[in-house]
Amino acid sequence: MNGSPTLTIDSLPFSQPGRFYRGNLHGHSTNSDGLWTPAEYIRQYRQNGYDFVAITDHCMEHYGYTITDTREFRYDDFTTLIGAELHPWQIESGSPWHLLAVGLPLDFEILRAGDTGASVARRAMAAGAFLAATHPNWYAFTVTDFETLDAADAVECYNGAADAASDRGYSWHFIDMLLHRGHRVGAIAVDDVHASGDYSDFMRGWVHVKADTLTPEALLRALKAGHYYSSTGPQLHHVELLGREKVVVECSPAEQILLSGERAGALRISGWGLRGAEFDLSDVESRWLRVTVRDEAGQRAWTNPVWLG
Ligand SMILES: [Zn+2]
Ligand SMILES: [Zn+2]
Repeated sequence: MNGSPTLTIDSLPFSQPGRFYRGNLHGHSTNSDGLWTPAEYIRQYRQNGYDFVAITDHCMEHYGYTITDTREFRYDDFTTLIGAELHPWQIESGSPWHLLAVGLPLDFEILRAGDTGASVARRAMAAGAFLAATHPNWYAFTVTDFETLDAADAVECYNGAADAASDRGYSWHFIDMLLHRGHRVGAIAVDDVHASGDYSDFMRGWVHVKADTLTPEALLRALKAGHYYSSTGPQLHHVELLGREKVVVECSPAEQILLSGERAGALRISGWGLRGAEFDLSDVESRWLRVTVRDEAGQRAWTNPVWLG
């Protein structure tokens, strides 16, 4: 696979200039199957401590292939990225593709005759979008499906709607399989909010993006460069590789801090109210590493998988 972000240890967000902005990259309004109007969607996130959102309505025939225009909801302290969920036909399981494209131009051509997942993904990325494969665990999306793509920026490691509706929210197993096969992908946590079910898919998963300003352009650049981490609760304040010997982690109070790589065993520290950890890499053999922090409530924060070579 080509064109995915390098995601080396130097692409971790923590030493990049700027500050972290919290955002939800995936959700639906009344322009597809969501309950909230775009204005209500924005109001809910803006009032609850978010700095930006994308509204990514299903671009399907029966919703009129609409890309929701959120430009009127951009303020000094809150902004939006234009996005969509794209559904070319079809993945191995017989479902349509669910491709998340954030940073799309409003005049993006949704569907061309003969389109496949690969051709739509290629077009969205050529148009500048941050492209992610969504909720693999929810729709039985396979590694074979993924490998038909020639590029992708990320895969959803957590999807709030899939968790709330089907107990299929977590997809780290899928990402680990991609990593073992050498695919360099980022990991995003999202709500996929619909606000329409008998379950809550609001404020369950989000990203913290490190950018120098709160503008759509700066956020998109940072996403494409891998300058973000994902969370369902805890915060990562700092993660750094010192020399090639030690990984240092600083975080909000945690019960467990883990460093995972290709082997089954993770390096880990457990305790009450942990605020950080240091991991010695001298016995670690892995092409890539990722850090997980788990808090008392069982919520997690994750770095992107970063490659050492
Ligand atoms: Zn979907
Ligand atoms: Zn969705």
